[in-house]
Amino acid sequence: MSLSQGRAYLAIPGPSVIPDQVLRAMHRASPNIYEGELHELTASLVPDLKEIAMTDSDVAIYIGNGHAAWEAALANTISAGDTVLVLATGRFCIGWGEMAAGLGAKVETIDYGAQSPIGLAQVEEVLAKDKEGRIKAVLAVHVDTSTSVKNDIASLRDVMDRVGHPALLMADCIASLGCDRFEMDAWGVDVMVAGCQKGLMTPAGISFVWFNAKADAARGDRVTTYWDWRPRTNPEFYFQYFDGTAPTHHLYGLRTALDMIKAEGLDNVFARHEKLAQVIWTAFDHWATEGPMHLNIADPAHRSHAVTSVSIGAPHGDALRHWCEHKCGLTLGIGLGRSPADAYFRVGHMGHVNAHMIMGALGTIEAGLNALNIPHGQGALSAAAQAIAARA
Ligand SMILES: *Cc1c(COP(=O)(O)O)cnc(C)c1O
Repeated sequence: MSLSQGRAYLAIPGPSVIPDQVLRAMHRASPNIYEGELHELTASLVPDLKEIAMTDSDVAIYIGNGHAAWEAALANTISAGDTVLVLATGRFCIGWGEMAAGLGAKVETIDYGAQSPIGLAQVEEVLAKDKEGRIKAVLAVHVDTSTSVKNDIASLRDVMDRVGHPALLMADCIASLGCDRFEMDAWGVDVMVAGCQKGLMTPAGISFVWFNAKADAARGDRVTTYWDWRPRTNPEFYFQYFDGTAPTHHLYGLRTALDMIKAEGLDNVFARHEKLAQVIWTAFDHWATEGPMHLNIADPAHRSHAVTSVSIGAPHGDALRHWCEHKCGLTLGIGLGRSPADAYFRVGHMGHVNAHMIMGALGTIEAGLNALNIPHGQGALSAAAQAIAARA
């Protein structure tokens, strides 16, 4: 029998749970795109997008998903034949590197596997050897959503400065913006990309590229009219923000999502994600005392606060996901980019998520472990409840 009727929890790491306020803001007739409210609303997004990235840099908005922002970041900065250094800690940075190769770049990859953060000593060695400055850009993901590893972007910049390497530092914050603390300017990031459907709680469809003057000056030969970030950030006419019709309803939704983040306060948003992540880790630590299940990233300092990747052994990953979804209305994430994929699953806890949703998700996972006879340690749920009580 299924007990899944009721409000579902889409606990995949993006798209994330969309707040009712955002949905309501989008439920309207199309506005006039030539003048009036939409123009003011669009202009109002720009300072708030800079604030959430903690930067004075420009931000360009694209109609597209995270992949579009990846392409935009590269198209504006690299030329055919340039070398980019990819620091891979999961599927996503590898994907960004593949996109760079598609644009004609030479891609060098340091692959740290699926359970470790970027190793800075190796980066330092590679950059120090590059005396003639062949490497045009260093590509890193802040949080790799496939492994749930969080990389130390500020320390990566320190290493680049220490060896005096001129490459651009480009960061993918698609899974971390509005969840894990990120400070673009203080951390010395030249280009940052994000989408709207994860920490920003809006349906997939628009994405963003923040870039500083150094990145703009690096301009390569791959940029085309559509991807050019200059008219989008300095539009003479409104249509240049998007090089065509504006993503009208997404802009209303994003306005509301940013207002919600402002009302809660960015520091509180970060703290909520951190505390809820700790609650989740507490439960998994208890379950891991017996049986096959354990967190993918061992060191809490290197774990995302927005997504948690779990190793459980094949075929338990898929079995548990299906059980939780069809019996209880909780949708967990697939073992994306992992092999075998059904030996893993992920819990998305980004954006519009609170303590009772997390307790519901953890209780559902425990029910699934019991129903499927997957061995696990005891006491996870009461430990999670205690962790909430201690933090709330
Ligand atoms: C989701 C995600 C992407 C891809 O975004 P799409 O919107 O699916 O194109 C890229 N990088 C990271 C870190 C992500 O989490």
